[in-house]
Amino acid sequence: MGKRLGVMGGTFDPIHYGHLVTAEEALVQLRLDEVLFVPTGRPWMKEHEVVSAAEDRYLMTVIATASNPRFSVSRMEIDREGATYTADTLRSLREQTGAGTELFFISGADAILEILHWREPEEVFELAHFIAATRPGYDLAHFEAAAPPLHPEITVMQVPALAISSTDIRRRVADGRPLRYLVPEGVKSYIEKRELYR
Ligand code: ATP
Ligand code: MG
Repeated sequence: MGKRLGVMGGTFDPIHYGHLVTAEEALVQLRLDEVLFVPTGRPWMKEHEVVSAAEDRYLMTVIATASNPRFSVSRMEIDREGATYTADTLRSLREQTGAGTELFFISGADAILEILHWREPEEVFELAHFIAATRPGYDLAHFEAAAPPLHPEITVMQVPALAISSTDIRRRVADGRPLRYLVPEGVKSYIEKRELYR
């Protein structure tokens, strides 16, 4: 039997329960063996935004996923020089894992639509299955009506609706509002210790 590997890309600035629930649902619904979290290096679509140091985002992702034996974190994007493209990541994962492993790229409803604007969309669809998780505030049906139809390679996955975003978490820290129950305790402690998002 071949291996089924989920790949969850993200800025994870910081990682929160929306990411974790999405990965866990993918694990179960798609019968994956493992989910690999891949924090981005320099995300090309966030070029004009201030993003926390890659090492901090990587460590928070490690802390948040440590207790789940089926979750792991890759340094491949943060150790790569220059802008990061998911196409490159999927290509090198393909090379590392070989033909026996099926790749499933997991993302939220907002991010999946960006794939269609990637450099080589058709080639990318050969590398992995694409899973679009439902996310409050981003209605895929609405997007579909406005934009070109969802690519047949994209599968929509229902996940419990958590209206949590890293943007909101960063604002909460800046405003001194609570993070408890939005991010794992260890991530909250790390943010405080490193004085992130002040
Ligand atoms: P930011 O507000 O900084 O963009 P974010 O919360 O969107 O942060 P990202 O790191 O940009 O987090 O997202 C990584 C992936 O996780 C994306 O595919 C995104 O769509 C998905 N995702 C993030 N939050 C949720 C959520 N609450 N429910 C479902 N998917 C989510
Ligand atoms: Mg985002």
